[in-house]
Amino acid sequence: MRVLNHTQYRTADLAAFFRAGLKAQVGAEWKSYVIEVYPYGKRRISRARYNQPRIWMVLPEEWQGPDGLWQSAVRGWALPRKWKSLPRRANIVRLAWVFVHEVGHTLGLHHKDMQTIGGMEIPPWCLGLEIRSKEAPVRTSGDRATSRAAHVQAMVERWGRRLVVARRTLAKWRRKARYYERRAAAAPKENDACQR
Ligand SMILES: [Zn+2]
Repeated sequence: MRVLNHTQYRTADLAAFFRAGLKAQVGAEWKSYVIEVYPYGKRRISRARYNQPRIWMVLPEEWQGPDGLWQSAVRGWALPRKWKSLPRRANIVRLAWVFVHEVGHTLGLHHKDMQTIGGMEIPPWCLGLEIRSKEAPVRTSGDRATSRAAHVQAMVERWGRRLVVARRTLAKWRRKARYYERRAAAAPKENDACQR
Protein backbone atom coordinates (compact mmCIF):
# COMPACT_ATOMS: atom_id res chain seq x y z
CA MET A 1 0.00 0.00 0.00
CA ARG A 2 1.22 3.47 -0.85
CA VAL A 3 -0.24 6.61 0.63
CA LEU A 4 0.46 9.84 -1.25
CA ASN A 5 -0.46 12.53 1.19
CA HIS A 6 -1.15 16.10 0.03
CA THR A 7 -2.87 17.17 3.25
CA GLN A 8 -1.80 18.53 6.59
CA TYR A 9 -2.95 15.31 8.25
CA ARG A 10 -0.36 12.86 9.50
CA THR A 11 0.60 10.26 6.93
CA ALA A 12 1.02 7.57 9.61
CA ASP A 13 -2.54 8.15 10.83
CA LEU A 14 -3.88 8.03 7.28
CA ALA A 15 -1.97 4.83 6.53
CA ALA A 16 -3.24 3.12 9.69
CA PHE A 17 -6.79 4.09 8.77
CA PHE A 18 -6.60 2.92 5.15
CA ARG A 19 -4.86 -0.32 6.15
CA ALA A 20 -7.59 -1.15 8.66
CA GLY A 21 -10.34 -0.35 6.15
CA LEU A 22 -8.73 -2.32 3.36
CA LYS A 23 -8.00 -5.35 5.51
CA ALA A 24 -11.67 -5.43 6.52
CA GLN A 25 -12.84 -5.26 2.91
CA VAL A 26 -10.20 -6.81 0.67
CA GLY A 27 -8.00 -8.85 3.02
CA ALA A 28 -4.46 -9.50 1.82
CA GLU A 29 -5.02 -7.39 -1.30
CA TRP A 30 -4.59 -4.29 0.87
CA LYS A 31 -0.91 -4.17 0.00
CA SER A 32 -1.50 -3.44 -3.67
CA TYR A 33 -3.50 -0.27 -3.09
CA VAL A 34 -2.33 3.24 -3.94
CA ILE A 35 -4.25 5.94 -2.12
CA GLU A 36 -3.76 9.59 -2.82
CA VAL A 37 -5.14 12.04 -0.28
CA TYR A 38 -6.12 15.63 -1.03
CA PRO A 39 -7.44 18.45 1.12
CA TYR A 40 -10.94 19.64 0.31
CA GLY A 41 -10.60 22.45 -2.20
CA LYS A 42 -7.89 20.97 -4.40
CA ARG A 43 -10.39 18.25 -5.15
CA ARG A 44 -13.95 18.04 -3.90
CA ILE A 45 -14.99 14.46 -4.40
CA SER A 46 -13.30 11.22 -3.47
CA ARG A 47 -13.17 8.70 -6.26
CA ALA A 48 -11.74 5.34 -7.27
CA ARG A 49 -11.01 3.23 -10.34
CA TYR A 50 -13.34 0.36 -11.08
CA ASN A 51 -11.58 -2.96 -10.56
CA GLN A 52 -8.22 -1.35 -9.81
CA PRO A 53 -6.55 -0.71 -6.45
CA ARG A 54 -6.43 3.05 -6.92
CA ILE A 55 -8.30 5.54 -4.74
CA TRP A 56 -8.28 9.34 -4.41
CA MET A 57 -9.60 10.55 -1.07
CA VAL A 58 -10.60 14.09 -0.16
CA LEU A 59 -10.43 15.06 3.48
CA PRO A 60 -12.53 17.98 4.63
CA GLU A 61 -11.13 20.13 7.36
CA GLU A 62 -13.21 19.71 10.45
CA TRP A 63 -13.09 20.55 14.09
CA GLN A 64 -14.60 18.62 16.93
CA GLY A 65 -16.88 20.94 18.82
CA PRO A 66 -17.07 21.03 22.62
CA ASP A 67 -20.38 19.14 22.54
CA GLY A 68 -18.71 16.18 20.84
CA LEU A 69 -20.43 16.85 17.53
CA TRP A 70 -18.39 17.22 14.42
CA GLN A 71 -18.73 20.65 12.99
CA SER A 72 -17.85 21.28 9.42
CA ALA A 73 -15.43 24.08 8.87
CA VAL A 74 -16.52 24.51 5.29
CA ARG A 75 -14.67 27.36 3.71
CA GLY A 76 -16.35 30.62 4.49
CA TRP A 77 -17.81 29.49 7.79
CA ALA A 78 -16.62 31.31 10.83
CA LEU A 79 -15.78 29.07 13.74
CA PRO A 80 -16.41 30.19 17.29
CA ARG A 81 -13.15 31.56 18.61
CA LYS A 82 -13.10 29.19 21.58
CA TRP A 83 -12.94 26.19 19.22
CA LYS A 84 -9.95 27.39 17.31
CA SER A 85 -7.56 26.13 19.94
CA LEU A 86 -8.94 22.58 19.74
CA PRO A 87 -6.84 20.07 17.84
CA ARG A 88 -7.87 19.62 14.25
CA ARG A 89 -8.86 16.10 13.36
CA ALA A 90 -10.71 14.45 10.55
CA ASN A 91 -14.18 13.04 11.19
CA ILE A 92 -13.26 9.38 11.30
CA VAL A 93 -16.71 7.83 10.81
CA ARG A 94 -17.65 9.99 7.88
CA LEU A 95 -14.30 9.35 6.29
CA ALA A 96 -14.72 5.59 6.86
CA TRP A 97 -18.08 5.64 5.07
CA VAL A 98 -16.54 7.39 2.10
CA PHE A 99 -13.61 4.98 2.11
CA VAL A 100 -15.84 1.89 2.23
CA HIS A 101 -17.73 3.33 -0.74
CA GLU A 102 -14.57 3.96 -2.75
CA VAL A 103 -13.12 0.54 -1.96
CA GLY A 104 -16.42 -0.85 -3.25
CA HIS A 105 -15.69 0.76 -6.62
CA THR A 106 -12.24 -0.84 -6.71
CA LEU A 107 -14.01 -4.18 -6.26
CA GLY A 108 -16.15 -3.42 -9.31
CA LEU A 109 -19.27 -2.22 -7.51
CA HIS A 110 -21.37 0.50 -9.11
CA HIS A 111 -23.67 2.82 -7.22
CA LYS A 112 -26.72 0.70 -7.96
CA ASP A 113 -24.99 -2.18 -6.15
CA MET A 114 -24.16 -0.17 -3.05
CA GLN A 115 -25.85 1.18 0.02
CA THR A 116 -26.07 4.92 0.26
CA ILE A 117 -23.68 6.35 2.79
CA GLY A 118 -26.58 7.43 4.99
CA GLY A 119 -27.74 3.81 5.27
CA MET A 120 -24.41 2.33 6.29
CA GLU A 121 -23.53 0.97 9.70
CA ILE A 122 -20.58 2.57 11.43
CA PRO A 123 -17.61 0.52 10.19
CA PRO A 124 -16.22 -1.11 13.34
CA TRP A 125 -12.64 -1.04 12.05
CA CYS A 126 -12.53 2.76 12.24
CA LEU A 127 -13.46 3.02 15.89
CA GLY A 128 -10.61 4.22 18.05
CA LEU A 129 -8.57 5.40 15.08
CA GLU A 130 -7.91 9.05 14.59
CA ILE A 131 -6.44 11.21 11.91
CA ARG A 132 -4.62 14.08 13.47
CA SER A 133 -3.04 17.17 12.00
CA LYS A 134 0.68 17.18 11.58
CA GLU A 135 2.31 18.88 14.53
CA ALA A 136 3.08 22.50 13.92
CA PRO A 137 6.87 22.77 13.80
CA VAL A 138 8.25 23.93 17.15
CA ARG A 139 9.63 27.41 16.77
CA THR A 140 12.70 28.36 18.77
CA SER A 141 13.51 31.90 19.87
CA GLY A 142 16.27 31.83 17.22
CA ASP A 143 13.65 31.08 14.53
CA ARG A 144 11.50 33.90 15.80
CA ALA A 145 14.39 36.39 15.77
CA THR A 146 15.24 35.30 12.21
CA SER A 147 11.66 35.70 11.04
CA ARG A 148 11.36 39.10 12.75
CA ALA A 149 14.56 40.27 11.04
CA ALA A 150 13.21 38.97 7.71
CA HIS A 151 9.95 40.82 8.31
CA VAL A 152 11.81 44.08 9.06
CA GLN A 153 13.87 43.67 5.88
CA ALA A 154 10.70 43.03 3.87
CA MET A 155 9.11 46.19 5.31
CA VAL A 156 12.21 48.26 4.42
CA GLU A 157 11.97 46.98 0.85
CA ARG A 158 8.22 47.50 0.59
CA TRP A 159 8.30 51.08 1.88
CA GLY A 160 11.34 51.84 -0.28
CA ARG A 161 9.32 50.79 -3.34
CA ARG A 162 6.36 52.86 -2.15
CA LEU A 163 8.63 55.87 -1.66
CA VAL A 164 9.90 55.62 -5.24
CA VAL A 165 6.33 55.41 -6.54
CA ALA A 166 5.22 58.28 -4.29
CA ARG A 167 8.06 60.53 -5.51
CA ARG A 168 7.23 59.77 -9.12
CA THR A 169 3.54 60.43 -8.53
CA LEU A 170 4.25 63.68 -6.68
CA ALA A 171 6.46 64.88 -9.56
CA LYS A 172 3.68 64.12 -12.05
CA TRP A 173 1.10 66.13 -10.12
CA ARG A 174 3.54 69.00 -9.63
CA ARG A 175 4.05 69.12 -13.39
CA LYS A 176 0.30 69.30 -13.87
CA ALA A 177 0.02 72.00 -11.20
CA ARG A 178 2.71 74.06 -12.97
CA TYR A 179 0.87 73.69 -16.24
CA TYR A 180 -2.28 75.16 -14.73
CA GLU A 181 -0.33 77.93 -12.99
CA ARG A 182 1.30 78.90 -16.31
CA ARG A 183 -2.04 78.82 -18.07
CA ALA A 184 -3.60 81.01 -15.41
CA ALA A 185 -0.71 83.48 -15.65
CA ALA A 186 -0.96 83.65 -19.44
CA ALA A 187 -4.74 83.98 -19.55
CA PRO A 188 -6.17 87.47 -20.15
CA LYS A 189 -7.34 89.19 -16.97
CA GLU A 190 -11.04 89.13 -16.33
CA ASN A 191 -11.58 92.75 -17.36
CA ASP A 192 -9.24 92.71 -20.33
CA ALA A 193 -12.05 92.32 -22.84
CA CYS A 194 -13.70 95.57 -21.71
CA GLN A 195 -10.45 97.50 -21.65
CA ARG A 196 -9.57 96.68 -25.25
ZN1 LIG B 1 -19.09 6.37 -5.90
